[in-house]
Amino acid sequence: MSLTVLMNAGPWLSVPPPGYGGIENIIATLVPELRRLGVRVVLASVESSTLPVDEKFSVFPDGQFHALQRPYNQVCGVSQAHLNGVIRQLHHRDDIDLVHDHVEAVGLATLAAMGPDGPPVLHTLHWDLAKHPELYGNLDAGDRVRVNGVSASQLARAPRALREHSVGHVHLSTPLAVGADRAPRPEKGDYAIILGRINPGKGQDVGARLAQRVGVPLVLAGPVGPYHRPEDLAAAGDEARQNPDVRFFYDEVAPHVDGELVRWVGTVAGQERDDLLAGAKASLFPLRWEEPGGTAVVESLALGTPVVATARGCLPELIEHGRTGLLTTDEDELGDLLLAASLLDADECRREAAARFTPAVMAQRYVELYERVRQGARAR
Ligand code: UDP
Repeated sequence: MSLTVLMNAGPWLSVPPPGYGGIENIIATLVPELRRLGVRVVLASVESSTLPVDEKFSVFPDGQFHALQRPYNQVCGVSQAHLNGVIRQLHHRDDIDLVHDHVEAVGLATLAAMGPDGPPVLHTLHWDLAKHPELYGNLDAGDRVRVNGVSASQLARAPRALREHSVGHVHLSTPLAVGADRAPRPEKGDYAIILGRINPGKGQDVGARLAQRVGVPLVLAGPVGPYHRPEDLAAAGDEARQNPDVRFFYDEVAPHVDGELVRWVGTVAGQERDDLLAGAKASLFPLRWEEPGGTAVVESLALGTPVVATARGCLPELIEHGRTGLLTTDEDELGDLLLAASLLDADECRREAAARFTPAVMAQRYVELYERVRQGARAR
């Protein structure tokens, strides 16, 4: 296939990310698979990215994640500086067949503003947009720009202007799903895990309270704001409380973290993350937002860990109640489901992941969408 895609990963984290990083993980999963299908990939990211690609360029030397703590206009300023680098490239070369953009709102707006002479753009929505209509505001996505969601539920909740420019959804995937149906059965511990950013939407406070109530050991893994290790958060002192996720952690989660039944272990990465997830008897998602894509959900399945979750956002699309997980709309019932999770079969979870959530399935679907976006752009 002769197709050159400029993959715009944005300026926040390197690709692959050092630990936490939903969007960057997905790009790191998608790109090798696209290249296997013959797509040439030019990566727009930060200099410290190590993902093998055909070509890469950057504006910032390394991830600007820390800048996300700044006021919103300054956050947009960092995005914009990165996007200006992308636009410069697009003005100077004519070999880019399509831009696959992942930079929230600013990316779509900037690329749309290039007008009819710019290359076709597929912008992947990564966020729950019903709660953040201001992000995409009065955006006119432009004729050569199309969007895709990471779940049907996310798209259904997106502002109308985006839905009108949609070419469908593509579920997230994980390399862990490759051969997951043939991997040896994991040894299970007695604990449950919540893997993800500590944030009200992810509901670690609900999970910690439930775990205490039903007596199930719970591991909370993930960063609190920009702090990856408990000792870093402790050392940051009171100033850290300016961050809303830090305040949420101290006010709502920490009172239930006793270091024994409920533990916060900070960000986990690599083999440590996989072992922790594979060893859990359940992966808990006590969601208070409409989870748009749920990378940690498909990773759990791939590692043979059933999912216990509030039936919100993409969860009902990814999880079959009673087979690969247990879903409820009643927060209190989650505790009982946590106790019942060991009745589910780890092999069913892994079979599901191997059939639906491999990088190959995701890349094939993106190639189809690239073709549709390009055909649409040619037809206009
Ligand atoms: N993650 C990780 N270590 C952690 C917490 C999260 O590697 O301590 C990874 C997780 O495995 C997943 C990603 O970060 O790949 C989070 O993506 P997800 O879509 O689950 O959540 P988001 O934060 O994007 O809403």
